[in-house]
Amino acid sequence: GAGRPLLQVERLAAGYGKIRALHGIGLTVHEARIVCVLGANGAGKTTLMRVLSGLLPVMDGTVQFDGQAIANVPAETLVRRGIVHVPQGRMVFAQLSVRENLMLGGYTRPAGEVRDHITHVLDYFPRLKERIGSRAGTLSGGEQQMLAIARGLLARPRLLMLDEPSMGVAPILKDAIFSTLRDIRDRERLTLLVVEQDADIALDISDEGYVIETGRVVMQASAAELAGNEDVRRAYLGG
Ligand code: ATP
Repeated sequence: GAGRPLLQVERLAAGYGKIRALHGIGLTVHEARIVCVLGANGAGKTTLMRVLSGLLPVMDGTVQFDGQAIANVPAETLVRRGIVHVPQGRMVFAQLSVRENLMLGGYTRPAGEVRDHITHVLDYFPRLKERIGSRAGTLSGGEQQMLAIARGLLARPRLLMLDEPSMGVAPILKDAIFSTLRDIRDRERLTLLVVEQDADIALDISDEGYVIETGRVVMQASAAELAGNEDVRRAYLGG
């Protein structure tokens, strides 16, 4: 139902061996909302995504998804429960075709069902439809990002986490990608957690945002408030 948090993170600590990268992060994401996490290089954004998708252990604190504790549940199990992560740098299989990459996104489901779902998902990405038989390595950065997002959708996420979807993407495709994300949220009631360095474009589609600095939440507000905040403008929006 509306108003229920899908993801609830409290006092989350994580890192790499003895290096702590997250020092007590608190974050709430409600169903069908778009929430962005802003922060400079090295703030801990990627680390947060890795912990939430089960790729890095939780050292302290709690993570609840749909009311259930999920700290240190294996990544594979989290995908089946609906937490899907589109990693930074896209990670598409360059030698495989667009279609083959998409089929891999639905690997947990019967092939016939996945084929129908691909047809549905491609309606959001007409550029990919045109290039369905091409090798992924021949796509532009923006098209590869679209492919990575489409592949994530084929896993039937309830929460889709995107790590820097604007990275290496030409400005015109950036706008297309972000407005498509909003469209997908509106039509599918998908919940999105977006990590971005491009605060402008992220705040444009988000409902709420968090700013993290050296592994701590330093600000949390509606996207409109953050976009109008002097400190945020100075640090992340170029004045
Ligand atoms: P970027 O935008 O550059 O990806 P980020 O906000 O995602 O930055 P993280 O990559 O999460 O930041 O890094 C957070 C901190 O953890 C940094 O101090 C970084 O140096 C450290 N860190 C990241 N990956 C590792 C690793 N594999 N081993 C050790 N330290 C790491």
